[in-house]
Amino acid sequence: AHCNLRLLGSSNSPVSASRVAGTTGACHHAGLLSKQNKTKKPHKLSSTLGAGNCKGKEKMTDTLLTIALSKGRIFEETLPLLAAAGIVPAEEPEKSRKLIIGTNHDNIRLVIVRATDVPTYVQYGAADFGIAGKDVLIEHGGDGLYQPLDLHIASCRMMVAVKKGFDYAAASKPGSRLRIATKYPDIAAEHFADKGVHVDIIKLYGSMELAPLVGLSDAIVDLVSSGNTLKANGLEAVEHVADISSRLVVNKAALKTKYALLNPIIQAFESAAKAV
Ligand code: ATP
Ligand code: MG
Repeated sequence: AHCNLRLLGSSNSPVSASRVAGTTGACHHAGLLSKQNKTKKPHKLSSTLGAGNCKGKEKMTDTLLTIALSKGRIFEETLPLLAAAGIVPAEEPEKSRKLIIGTNHDNIRLVIVRATDVPTYVQYGAADFGIAGKDVLIEHGGDGLYQPLDLHIASCRMMVAVKKGFDYAAASKPGSRLRIATKYPDIAAEHFADKGVHVDIIKLYGSMELAPLVGLSDAIVDLVSSGNTLKANGLEAVEHVADISSRLVVNKAALKTKYALLNPIIQAFESAAKAV
């Protein structure tokens, strides 16, 4: 099998929120959770958004909600939170090749992106909100993002790990120099700066465990949950860097313009996250 690498052009490229949102053909008047909460009195703002004719793209983008999620553990652990907010995806991203997945609400859709890209989609308003690991958010910097909630999902620890037998205590005395391989250069740099250790950081995109085994680095800074991957590769965690879990991230502008749609979801996520 072979694949073609092509430059894909599209008039719907996610450059601005309004262009992305404007790609939906239909005009959705339904407020959020309208299916679940038909009897509830609509929120003042949502009835405003839902009222009248759909005159242009502005109205449509105001009622469409786009949620950015990554496949895998974050998606799995987000499903119960979405369910608590009355949102059920139409497909499983693991089984589908689609990058835009509908839900049981005409005006709510999911976009499936790489975990590290979630803050970027939300920052530029291509998604109204998303769920991203604190690891990813620290590296991203958080520009344009409102981070109201720690959801306590996808919990793990950022750790320094070395080859078993490597004398880390001696090698990491203040003033010493270490080579660190990591996917998280900013987090690693700050950690070692605080310790007064000079570091040469080598940025990797995966399989960090390999680096100390083949002499690419003295240590790695990576996420650890069970520790099984480290163990399987003859490494051991030697220092805690940070506790990591996933957070809700909301586009700052969307929080204002779509408050009536977003607020009930944030509330539902908050109670569901507390219950976990
Ligand atoms: P890939 O592993 O396919 O390269 P990725 O690393 O971008 O992709 P995941 O491994 O699914 O994606 O990680 C997504 C998020 O889940 C991370 O940003 C982090 O917050 C969290 N995470 C990563 N590893 C663990 C882990 N071992 N235990 C719990 N949560 C984790
Ligand atoms: Mg991973």
